[in-house]
Amino acid sequence: MNTYKLLTPGPLTTSGTVKQEMLVDRCTWDDDYKTVTQKIRRQLLELAHVSEDSYTAVLMQGSGTFSVESVLSSVIGDDEMVLICSNGAYGERMTKICDRSRISYIHYKESYDKIPDAAHVADLLAQNPAVTHVAMVHSETTSGILNDIQSVGKVVRDAGRTFIIDAMSSFGGIDIPVSHWGIDFLVSSANKCIQGVPGFAFVLCRRDKLLGSEGKARSLSLDLLDQWKTMEKDGKWRFTSPTHVVLAFARALDELTQEGGITARHRRYTENNRLLIQRMTKMGFTPYIDKIHQGPIITTFFYPGGASFRFSDFYSYIKERGYAIYPGKLTELDTFRIGNIGEIYADDIERLIEIISDFLKEVKA
Ligand SMILES: *Cc1c(COP(=O)(O)O)cnc(C)c1O
Repeated sequence: MNTYKLLTPGPLTTSGTVKQEMLVDRCTWDDDYKTVTQKIRRQLLELAHVSEDSYTAVLMQGSGTFSVESVLSSVIGDDEMVLICSNGAYGERMTKICDRSRISYIHYKESYDKIPDAAHVADLLAQNPAVTHVAMVHSETTSGILNDIQSVGKVVRDAGRTFIIDAMSSFGGIDIPVSHWGIDFLVSSANKCIQGVPGFAFVLCRRDKLLGSEGKARSLSLDLLDQWKTMEKDGKWRFTSPTHVVLAFARALDELTQEGGITARHRRYTENNRLLIQRMTKMGFTPYIDKIHQGPIITTFFYPGGASFRFSDFYSYIKERGYAIYPGKLTELDTFRIGNIGEIYADDIERLIEIISDFLKEVKA
């Protein structure tokens, strides 16, 4: 089989040792397995700098969206309302979830190259006393922009509302002091910056807010409190869990510690990203997001001025030489994306640059 590394924001390139964990079958009710689940839950709280007294971790089957849907549909009551701040497809997806579950919401929609503004959120909260929750994305993978959840979190806390964060593509790669930033519910998944494989996601919840959600859930499978109640007893998942994925994730968490924790991983990602943008810019590609707001996870690039080649040709050329890149997700503009998270190092970026440079020479020739 032809193999290549993924320059995508998840699933991403995992280590051989993480993949190796999946070669053993495990019992979901056995103590060994339940112990692994409990250890993961404690480690996640540590990464978030929160104590077990005030926060708790819930693991949930499915991709990241399942857990975003779980939180929105489990903690916002029929008589409550959420303010959704969006600047990309993942923020907009939250409005779709609310439509399906008939959750009342207000939508503050920013353009994709701008971050939601904390002062504007404060105004909206002041004008709309019916709003009980605020939800937004941290790293908008649609473009690669990094939102200022710290400033918005302060505004939300000052206004006494509940703050829900989709930190899918940032948690583990960017340090997030969850309690300090006023986050009540944070969602992330196994196959992003922790560098596990796809199959489940997790929610870090402020205990009192989770316990206060009794009776609000609109779905059985995605009932956050119900999932927690079972898991909290002894680490048993409520329904069948992705055992192989969970073991791989446990290994990935240990490898994050070995690397030097979030600080070291953040440094590697940031360096990958800096190198990528510097070299790409030199070749004539322009990033879509300005320097100040560009996050260290994924970058959207415009094609060089005057270049007319198809993404599919560009993609195949690079893939045949060992790397998979990502199509753009902006509707009106002609762009593509390159992720730099996972088991990706400076050498990979240098190699990718050579490949792209060769491609440009060939299409121009
Ligand atoms: C990956 C991602 C998700 C979840 O997407 P799934 O395809 O459901 O895993 C949600 N939000 C953001 C910002 C993401 O990057």
